[in-house]
Amino acid sequence: MQTAPFWTDDFPRPTDLPVQAPPERTDVAIVGSGYTGLSAARVLARAGYDVTVLDAETIGWGASSRNGGMMTTGLKDDAQHICKQYGNELGRRLWEWSLDAVDFVEKSVGEAGIDCDFARRGYLYLAYKPGHVEAMQESVAWHARQLDYHDMHFVPREELSEEIGTAAYFGGVVDSRAAGLHPAKYVFGLARIAAEEGVRLAEQSPVTAIDKAGEEWRLETSSKRSLYASQIFIATNGYTTDVLPYIRNGVFPVGSYIITTEPLSPALQAELSPRGRMFVDSKNFLNYFRLTPDGRMLFGGRHNLSPNLDVTESAHMMRRRMLEVFPQLADAAVSHTWSGNLGLTFDLMPHAGRIASGPHAGIAYAYGYAGHGVAVASYLGHEIGRMLSGERASVTFADIRQQRYFFTRYDSLYLPFVSAWFRILDRVR
Ligand SMILES: Cc1cc2nc3c(=O)[nH]c(=O)nc-3n(C[C@H](O)[C@H](O)[C@H](O)COP(=O)(O)OP(=O)(O)OC[C@H]3O[C@@H](n4cnc5c(N)ncnc54)[C@H](O)[C@@H]3O)c2cc1C
Repeated sequence: MQTAPFWTDDFPRPTDLPVQAPPERTDVAIVGSGYTGLSAARVLARAGYDVTVLDAETIGWGASSRNGGMMTTGLKDDAQHICKQYGNELGRRLWEWSLDAVDFVEKSVGEAGIDCDFARRGYLYLAYKPGHVEAMQESVAWHARQLDYHDMHFVPREELSEEIGTAAYFGGVVDSRAAGLHPAKYVFGLARIAAEEGVRLAEQSPVTAIDKAGEEWRLETSSKRSLYASQIFIATNGYTTDVLPYIRNGVFPVGSYIITTEPLSPALQAELSPRGRMFVDSKNFLNYFRLTPDGRMLFGGRHNLSPNLDVTESAHMMRRRMLEVFPQLADAAVSHTWSGNLGLTFDLMPHAGRIASGPHAGIAYAYGYAGHGVAVASYLGHEIGRMLSGERASVTFADIRQQRYFFTRYDSLYLPFVSAWFRILDRVR
């Protein structure tokens, strides 16, 4: 069993990716080289800006090469609740934006010729308890009525076998617009195209301090070198450090853990997932799973919210849960186990825009995709690129007010309590 992501084992960071040391000056410095940072960088380079993307590790090292590769519609918070919270008009706009985000990824990988196994396989949201079924049926009717969305349908328990080879669930909702891809092929493909478009990629360059230097910004990297930039975009999401308190007080990391099996026989693949859907269940400590393009079962989730669990230990827990769903996998060896950080916000919404006041006013940021970042990070990064190039005044989510708390950065203190609460909810509801 390898303790590294299957995706980067299958498709490692290309050795010929053109990386360079950070220069002394650049127009736009982008901190973080996942989908968010690279999508913004591409827009800016095409608009003629000198762009430098810096990553503390290697390019694409963060969640963007470690995730489930599932592009579901909507955001982490469900559309009904978003409409209640922010009003029907904005709720509808954000729903449609989420559909556009998946379309955006499809279109941009098509146009750029990034071969990343993008496929519209649809997704199946599974009722973990009988009590979850009614809300699911209501949700399908609500999406049709309120959002004029008709690509969703309810599947009763007796018909679930057409969708999934398990008796563990009580019904489900299929959304046919959802898609899947190979995360590492996508992020490294983005990086290669960005470099071809003129973006400078700098690895092993952790930004440790940012301050104002006259009209410009000065970024200090760990080697004590300075990089001067006219604009900065922070795209570090679940790996955000304490460099800018404003950002760190808005987002906290949550660990997510994945295992994959060895490739399964075509017959077993067809039995477990006849339509190749992306699967998510309705628990608070949810599980998400799918077949990989080469026919492995990828099974992910979390046991508590900590980003620091041992991945060998987590593999045992994840396998136990996988066998509850698919006892047919008892003989399938686990090939890989790994983890990564999601970026979460207390209101479960993405947030983006510019820091409004204080010594770092004007610096752009985007974060908080809460497990929906494959499409959302890509599209929001693209919008930020357009904002920084002056093509648009602001970005989606900039008007959603976010409460910031000084204690957000002390996540290791409060996450165990939030985890315990979720565990209780999973037992009682
Ligand atoms: C296990 C797992 C499963 C997931 N599954 C799904 C899924 O199925 N579908 C979905 O939509 N989303 C999923 N997600 C979420 C999705 O992967 C993320 O939302 C998305 O990749 C975020 O992209 P990003 O570019 O914002 O951040 P990341 O890809 O995390 O990149 C941030 C980068 O910032 C760098 N960095 C941090 N601090 C500094 C610094 N000071 N200086 C320089 N660099 C720095 C880090 O090294 C890192 O490479 C999953 C996430 C995880 C971890």
